[in-house]
This record gives sequence, structure tokens and C-alpha cells, in this order.
Amino acid sequence: MRKLAIGIDLGGTNIKGGVLDRAGRLLRRDSIETEGERGREHVIGRVVGLIESLAAASGTPRTDFAGVGLGAPGPMSHKAGVIHAAPNLPGWSSVPIRDILAQRTGLKVTLENDANAAAFGEFTAGAGRGVGRMFMMTLGTGVGGGLVIDGRLERGHFDNAGEIGHMILFPNGRPCPCGQRGCFERYASANAVSERFVEALRAGEPSSLTLTAPPPQAPEVLAAAEAGDGLAARVWRETVEALALGCVNVQHLLNPELIVLAGGLIAAGDALLRPLREAFSRATWRIAPDQPRIEPATLGGDAGVIGAAALAFE
Ligand SMILES: [Zn+2]
Repeated sequence: MRKLAIGIDLGGTNIKGGVLDRAGRLLRRDSIETEGERGREHVIGRVVGLIESLAAASGTPRTDFAGVGLGAPGPMSHKAGVIHAAPNLPGWSSVPIRDILAQRTGLKVTLENDANAAAFGEFTAGAGRGVGRMFMMTLGTGVGGGLVIDGRLERGHFDNAGEIGHMILFPNGRPCPCGQRGCFERYASANAVSERFVEALRAGEPSSLTLTAPPPQAPEVLAAAEAGDGLAARVWRETVEALALGCVNVQHLLNPELIVLAGGLIAAGDALLRPLREAFSRATWRIAPDQPRIEPATLGGDAGVIGAAALAFE
């Protein structure tokens, strides 16, 4: 049985990589800049270089590698191994990246949505270890989602299962770049905290914070809320309440044992988790005792690499 797999997490700023064993241990990790502005071919060359350096540094024959898992921003097709578009990577449209990498490295390659890869990473080695059914939400620029059922990543028929960021939470709500209105991520992402706070400031609502460049981000909004700023407290409370509604919807659709929260917003720690659990308990039904636990992710920036590599073993 092949012992090792390589995981790659392709992001707009950095390409992270690592070598995983079958026990879910990350034996080696590395990170390089993406240099996306230099074009698609350049980035592909950097990914190939990172795979080769990780394989060489492991000191293990190529035949011991089950393959490479590549987590990348979507939309994409896992089945076809094609990235349809990558908003943070100029020139990436309809790229058959799986076959390109397989041909250039001689390794089997699996392409996966980065949010799915991170969810599978937390299932493999983090907050979701030993859990049969979990859902993970990544609260960052947007809101990503990933679903693990009975130890398997559920991708959906069209490879877009778990795209909770675009679940419509408020009909006719805030416009989303995806074309819909009222998407969950327009209310519950780290970016949404900043955007909604700035909109209220621009509308003339009083606050101890002023419009700066760059504008106040989620951590500053939270700090202001904790220091007694009324506007910041309202934006934070509304964020937590939107997140709680998202968790209620996940509970009813999937009945998971665990909802894992990841991404930049969870740096808030208990300032997020405590009111979220309270808001969830208030918002959900009381007629059945089937409430999932809501817990923070534990792997941080390694989740995507670990999950991508773990999927290469599948
Ligand atoms: Zn949307």
C-alpha cells in the first residue's frame, strides 16, 4: 500500500504544500508565493516545483506516493479535473489542471474545491476526527462549506454540494457577486462584517471608529464592539445571528453531529462562539434534541493541505 500523499493548497497569495502519511500526520510542509500576476503557466510551474521538492525532500521513492491532492479555488469540476475560473488567479479559465499536473509529475492527481479540502482535513486530523457526519463553514472573504458523511466527502451531483455561502438567507437582501441577493456570505463572512460596518458609517451612523483606508476589518469592529461602540456591537450581533440561522438551516438539512467553523472570523474565539451557541439555541426548534455541536476548527492553515493529501489516498 502506498504510504504517502502530497497535498497542495493553491491560493491567490500562497501555494502551501505538505506530505501526509496514512495516519493523517503532516510529515513535511512548505509554502511559496503564488505570483499569480505572472500568469497561469508560471503558477503551474511553481505548483510542479513544489510537488517535486516535497517529494524529493521526503527521501521516499516515487512509487511510495499514492498521489497528489490539489485544493484550489472554484468553481471547478472534480470529475473532469478542470478549474472553470479562479477569481484570484488571472488567466485561469477552463484549465484542465489535473491532467496537466499528472502529466508533468507522473503522479496521480485529484482536484478538489479548497473549502471541501479544508473540511476533509478537519475530518481527517482536526476538530472532526472520529465524527461520522460533519459540516464545516469557512468564514473568510466569503463563506465556504464542506460536508463529510460517513467518512466520505460529499461533492454533490454537479460538484457544488455544501456551497452554503450562497444559500439565500434574506430574500431581496444584499446583492452578491454571484448574481443572487441575500446570500449567507453577505452577512456571515469576515468581509461582510467590514462591509456592513462601513456602509453604516457612510450612512452617517455614529461610531467611535472612522472611515480609514483600508477600512476597519472584522477584528477592529469586534474590538470596538467590546469597548462599547453601539454600531460595532449591532453589526457584530447581526453577524452572529445570521450565522446562527445558517447553522439552523444546516441542522435541518443535514442533521450533522458537528458543525465546524473555520476561517478568519474564528480568531474572535469566545466572542463569536458563546453568543453564536446562544443565538443558535434560541433560533432552532425545541421539539427534538438533535442539536449539533458547534466547534472551532483546530488545524488553522494546514487544513487544506492535509485534506487535499488525504483525498489523494481515496
Ligand atoms: Zn451569492
